[in-house]
Amino acid sequence: MNIILFGPPGCGKGTQSQALVTERGWVQLSTGDMLRAAKAAGTELGRRVAAVMDAGNLVSDEIVIELIEERLPEAEAAGGAIFDGFPRTVAQAEALDAALAKRGTQVDRVVRLLVNEDELVERMEKRAADQGRADDNIDAFKVRLKAYKDQTAPLIPFYEGQGKLREVPGMGSIDDVAAGISAALDIK
Ligand code: AMP
Repeated sequence: MNIILFGPPGCGKGTQSQALVTERGWVQLSTGDMLRAAKAAGTELGRRVAAVMDAGNLVSDEIVIELIEERLPEAEAAGGAIFDGFPRTVAQAEALDAALAKRGTQVDRVVRLLVNEDELVERMEKRAADQGRADDNIDAFKVRLKAYKDQTAPLIPFYEGQGKLREVPGMGSIDDVAAGISAALDIK
């Protein structure tokens, strides 16, 4: 099964992806994690994307599409992919559809986590204290939220049109949200 966990920065996509990895043995494909790893390793790619990421802007579609395509065989072997933070633009969503179609599969479900904006800011501030991410500060966060609204939110009607979108409340405890996601995945 190929699923997308969808929502604004700080809505819990990463945490819930990990819960699904544990529960179902699927592979988490987080472009943010891949880019942060490249940055930390000081690769050519990492150096190229560092400033864009730190400011809270999106890196180019070509870069993230390539990162995802490289990992599709691994997810297929595990029986499932959890796309976390990808796709973030309609062009990325179209490229994902094409890449999966080439492999004879598809996006099965898109789970949108609903969290209000005040809570997103609170979570970002907590994560800044816990993890020290360069883009967890209020200025970069505002840019990330704007990028979400302008470039990523158009995916809501995109996947609604494909009949794949399910909405799950994202404000409860980690376990409650996980239960909501499980229900959204298991209901036809
Ligand atoms: P995330 O960990 O998903 O919040 O991603 C952190 C940062 O990595 C984003 O603010 C972007 O700069 C970059 N990034 C991650 N995924 C994507 C994507 N699918 N498209 C463009 N930029 C991305």
